[in-house]
Amino acid sequence: MNTDQVSRRSFLKTSALAAASLPFVHACAAEPARKIGYALCGLGSLSTHQLAPALQKTKYCRLAGIITGTPAKAESWKGQYNIPDHCIYNYDTMTKLADNPDIDVVYVVTPNALHADSTIKAAKAGKHVLTEKPMEVSVDRCQQMIDACRAANRLLAVGYRLHFEPNNLECARLVREKVLGELKYIEAGFGFAMGDPTQWRLNRALAGGGPLMDVGIYALQAMRYLTGAEPVEATAFTTVTDPVKFHDVEESINWQLKFPGGVLASGAATYRFGGLGQFKALSDGGWLELNPAFNYHGIRGTRSDGATIQLPDLDQFAAEMDDFAQCILNGQPTRVPGEEGLRDVKIMMALYEAARTGTTIKL
Ligand code: NAD
Repeated sequence: MNTDQVSRRSFLKTSALAAASLPFVHACAAEPARKIGYALCGLGSLSTHQLAPALQKTKYCRLAGIITGTPAKAESWKGQYNIPDHCIYNYDTMTKLADNPDIDVVYVVTPNALHADSTIKAAKAGKHVLTEKPMEVSVDRCQQMIDACRAANRLLAVGYRLHFEPNNLECARLVREKVLGELKYIEAGFGFAMGDPTQWRLNRALAGGGPLMDVGIYALQAMRYLTGAEPVEATAFTTVTDPVKFHDVEESINWQLKFPGGVLASGAATYRFGGLGQFKALSDGGWLELNPAFNYHGIRGTRSDGATIQLPDLDQFAAEMDDFAQCILNGQPTRVPGEEGLRDVKIMMALYEAARTGTTIKL
């Protein structure tokens, strides 16, 4: 069985459990003999506001270390999370991780184009790696990450938190089990109004692209996990209305994908305005939609038959980190392996190529 099949089967398997059992398992499972030690690499917004708090809610993980280029952050995190000096690193001292048995996983949370560097250093130091999305800014760099982890015999996962979110899992189950008939069409989009014009997300060298790489990836993921298939053709166009702010990356992008069997998908991602953050899947016997679909909390949806989709919230980051810890503890594959991240990057590169050339790209 290839990683594609493993990843898709486990997505569906989990979806069957999603309705009630995931939070239940969290509350009732016995204390694990050993918690997996995570080191957060890059202490920006996501690490500070989501990942460190989520680690406190996990069953199988603990915040064991940090990797940061900013000494002042090292000091404040050390105090706040009681991190010992020997578990504090900067990007240049990561080779020393090899001597630290307290750290099992490096969670890479830096700008996109720096994911490969830290992943490869961590793998060479014998650590498993969870890297944030998008996996990297080119197919080559994703492949280098996969190769490095494979050579070190370490697991590599991508931080696709929605693979652990019950409502998204339930929608994938409903569509793939054809509960509302044969799937014909998906529309999905995600966007927000970009503030700070100086941030790395507007710098192509660090971000790899604009809203497609940052948030459009969620809409693309939805298209792939709803269909359970890979697209075969892609078209796209990008727009810029503020060429000063968006001189390096697209401001907005719209795209179309064709899936096997003629299923069409239409996507949008933008840094120009908020309000986009949903998907709708239309089948020949009805439709379902999640709106909001991709948020940290409050995901809910409706169906054409009047049913609502509103399974209980869970901390998606805690679920994602606990799942990776269990994969390590039990020697199992992850449902979000590096190969899954690479597939998205490959499609996104094709979408940029389609937009640049004005052609349809065969995938
Ligand atoms: P951020 O800008 O808040 O933090 C980035 C961190 O990287 C900062 O601590 C910064 O100091 C550090 N850094 C190291 N080298 C740097 C350099 N050369 N330039 C700029 N910063 C540098 O960004 P963030 O929002 O925390 O995003 C980090 C990663 O997490 C990105 O890959 C992003 O796509 C991803 N992310 C994922 C989610 C999710 O829901 N899964 C949400 C937000 C961000």
